[in-house]
Amino acid sequence: MPTPDTRVRTRSLRFAGPGDVRLTAGTDRALAPHEVRLRPLAVGVCGTDAHIVGGSFPAEPGVVLGHEVCGRVVEAGDGATTPRVGDLVTVEPHDYCTACTWCRAGQEHLCSAKRGYGVRLDGGMAESMIVPARIAYVLPPDTVPWVGALCEPVACCVHAVDRLGVVAGEALLVMGSGPAGAVLVALGRLLGATPVVAADTREARRDLARRMGADVVIDPRDPEQLRHALDLTGGEGFPAVVDAVGSSTVLEQALTMARRGGRVLEFGVAAPDDVAAVRPHDLFSRELTLLGSVINPWTHQRAVALLPRLGLEHLTPAFYGLDGFDDALAAQRRGDVDKVFVAPAGEAAALGG
Ligand SMILES: [Zn+2]
Ligand SMILES: [Zn+2]
Repeated sequence: MPTPDTRVRTRSLRFAGPGDVRLTAGTDRALAPHEVRLRPLAVGVCGTDAHIVGGSFPAEPGVVLGHEVCGRVVEAGDGATTPRVGDLVTVEPHDYCTACTWCRAGQEHLCSAKRGYGVRLDGGMAESMIVPARIAYVLPPDTVPWVGALCEPVACCVHAVDRLGVVAGEALLVMGSGPAGAVLVALGRLLGATPVVAADTREARRDLARRMGADVVIDPRDPEQLRHALDLTGGEGFPAVVDAVGSSTVLEQALTMARRGGRVLEFGVAAPDDVAAVRPHDLFSRELTLLGSVINPWTHQRAVALLPRLGLEHLTPAFYGLDGFDDALAAQRRGDVDKVFVAPAGEAAALGG
């Protein structure tokens, strides 16, 4: 008599190709040594997911989506000692080759063969997720799961302020106040940037920036409000400016808002074919520094530590089941709630119930 198959069947949201995301059911594989199995509780939906589904951010067909993951460990493979079964964890969602020039120079995030979970490796929009124990970071047990899922964007923002060199007592301008821009505002404030100014074309986003601690918020389409922002710096411009939108228009404006000797950071994910007009004479004569920042090199642990200090509970979350991904994506695109999550185990579990 054949042995009955007792392995659990789980549902997953898989990217089948541009515009094609499918809810599939499959059987979980056994764990390899040093792996853990998670039950995802809250998984953030962000611009990157929208770009993947839209076809402008390359991803592996068939991959399970979801790279902003908070879950509970339900099984640990041989040799996996931390985290333990029952721990609430956040995932640092990358795999590095360990052998290329960058991996060997301590710059793993620039690895030539980097693979992201939820992009090239199976992510967290599923009832079950398997990751190496090494990339699962333990959260304090009272962490609200949807807040825990924000560790990934927070870790990217920590790298951004490291790159930008935010200095206490210096003015900071954050252009774009989606969830990541709002975290940059909160981080800037914690670091002592003064004043922290946030710019966004949408009223709801400006309101979010205000809630996250911006001293002043402006609509960057309004010349009067731009002048007001510059007035706050004595008309000289900002020493530190971030494009948290990822757009040539915003980058061009960011360069005009920087003061002589200022630093401008490109942080948002722009379309690969978007081209900005930059005047070399401007970079030269004003001695501007133009920087980029990508993902989260060794900042995930710092994000875990910072999590309770950022006021993330000021964000209004919205939750969707695995069967509601189209609606979740539409809500993310509309931007009328602060942050959208897929809650594979239900909304109550994402809220910590
Ligand atoms: Zn993201
Ligand atoms: Zn590498």
